[in-house]
Amino acid sequence: MENQKHFCTCKDVNCKLNPCNHSKGCDPCIKKNLNAGEIPSCFFRLMSDNLNELQEFTIESFVDFYIKNKDNSKK
Ligand code: SF4
Repeated sequence: MENQKHFCTCKDVNCKLNPCNHSKGCDPCIKKNLNAGEIPSCFFRLMSDNLNELQEFTIESFVDFYIKNKDNSKK
């Protein structure tokens, strides 16, 4: 738990890329997501904390998730 004050909202604290486990901030997470064609979970959580039904974090799934949750988002 090296960086517990980071703003990251990802709940997977066992992920080695989670900022609570190193001092490199978002860089490792974003690099992994860009390489995989995915969107970091913090973007999904901006729309809703209920990620239970999500099967993947692709760009396409984010667009679908956004459309589904845009009226109830936190912003
Ligand atoms: S990009 Fe990754 S590490 Fe950064 S806040 Fe979002 S989920 Fe957390």
